[in-house]
Amino acid sequence: MLIVMKPDATEADISRVIGVIEHLGYRGHAMPGESRTAIGVTGNKGAVDPTHFENLPGVADAIRVTKPYKLISNDLRPGRSSIKVGNAFIGDGSLAMIAGPCAVESVDQVFKVAEIVAASGAKFFRGGAFKPRTSPYAFQGKGEDGLKILAEVRDQFGLNIVTEAMDERGVDLVVKYGDCIQIGARNMQNYSLLKYVGQTKTPVLLKRGLSATLDELLLAAEYIMSEGNYDVILCERGIRTFADHARNTLDISIVPAIRRLSHLPIIIDPSHASGHNYMVEPLARAGVAVGADGLIIEVHPCPQEALCDGAQALTPEQYVGLNSQLATLHDALNVRPGAVEMSEALA
Ligand code: PEP
Ligand code: MN
Repeated sequence: MLIVMKPDATEADISRVIGVIEHLGYRGHAMPGESRTAIGVTGNKGAVDPTHFENLPGVADAIRVTKPYKLISNDLRPGRSSIKVGNAFIGDGSLAMIAGPCAVESVDQVFKVAEIVAASGAKFFRGGAFKPRTSPYAFQGKGEDGLKILAEVRDQFGLNIVTEAMDERGVDLVVKYGDCIQIGARNMQNYSLLKYVGQTKTPVLLKRGLSATLDELLLAAEYIMSEGNYDVILCERGIRTFADHARNTLDISIVPAIRRLSHLPIIIDPSHASGHNYMVEPLARAGVAVGADGLIIEVHPCPQEALCDGAQALTPEQYVGLNSQLATLHDALNVRPGAVEMSEALA
């Protein structure tokens, strides 16, 4: 059930509707939009009777939802969601750049990258302190010590920290030290973890699972939102296919597919999608061209010495070059307010 409020509905009208939803034993999620608020109902097993709401003050319509997802849906919020991560936004029309090493290795390594990432104008820094490695013998990350280094990066360079948590203890630590909880591809379907991050107030970067469909990704986001955390950013990071020339296959068609269904921002990770340094730049350009809200890119001061994912890491110089290209491309593609319409330009 989706309850659409009238544009002039008051806070009291909205609270009254939520009170009725709770009285019925369900949960109400108020989503303010550009012109009106909509309230999603979750927790109901069968259809909810719309007559409970139809005659309440401020209610424009009570609509049955037949799709499997409710809160991620454009029906709930026709505009686009802009998510505040630390002191900056993802999904506000700017191109969000999240850059940094795959893993936090040392203060020196992280600071070298942070310096150029901040100087390039990016607002977000990535780096894993908990690494989901295929082999148990591979470097697993520096844990809390790594998060402390990331917190220093925020203090020193003003960058907002995006970092992965793999379990509940990791979530608590990322909430303490970071600005955005990354849920990695391998955990996209860890439903108890999704519920746990849904109970925090920290934004979540949700990466698409290695073989997840669009519906599975959106329903994973729905898990987080149904717990009350609406600050979810989706990330396409490549999927497993028969193609073996790249680490994964970047599925750029998911960007327009998500736009059609959901108000949530979607970013592209050309690093994990490709696995190769030489592919990162062209795939990043494709991400901007297809209309992604941002990019997450791995950068290492000395890729050949990286403890994790060195083959796909850009050098700081490569990152600076790519960043200026992407800014130009994003600017050229963007329809800015006040821009001359194509028909007028041609007249
Ligand atoms: C990462 O971002 O370092 C990472 C492990 O990504 P993914 O979960 O997409 O493999
Ligand atoms: Mn990595």
